[in-house]
Amino acid sequence: MRLTAFTDVSLRLVMRLAVAGEGELLTTRAVAEMTSVPYTHMAKAVARLSDLGLVEARRGRGGGLRLSERGRRASVGSIVREPEGGGDLAGCEDDPPCPLRAACRLRGALHRAREAFHASLDEVSVESLVASEEVFGPDLWQGTD
Ligand code: SF4
Repeated sequence: MRLTAFTDVSLRLVMRLAVAGEGELLTTRAVAEMTSVPYTHMAKAVARLSDLGLVEARRGRGGGLRLSERGRRASVGSIVREPEGGGDLAGCEDDPPCPLRAACRLRGALHRAREAFHASLDEVSVESLVASEEVFGPDLWQGTD
């Protein structure tokens, strides 16, 4: 099991914005470069998280991105759950579908495992990910000066 690239980019975005200085606004391009993500991927993550109210985007000259209070308090689970989706983990309904699916217990076990994964991340907030300046301060990020 592995996070989709979109989910990972979204998490890099909120973590970087979470360690921004007071009043610091970052452009999408700057965050993309700091997190080693293609600009177009970062722009998609910015658009989605803005729609969710987790990131605030100020347009125009001197504008940029910052994490909203809601974004700071958001759980990692709330960011991860939807883009990761609830589809098959094992391709039960692929074409052709798995012949074992009518009576398969593994399918249910995999579903419960995913729910447990998400529930665990529901307990982790964005701000808690960057709570320690020692291990996750602005110096960690390239190009922050
Ligand atoms: S064995 Fe079970 S979990 Fe695997 S594809 Fe078939 S129905 Fe799905």
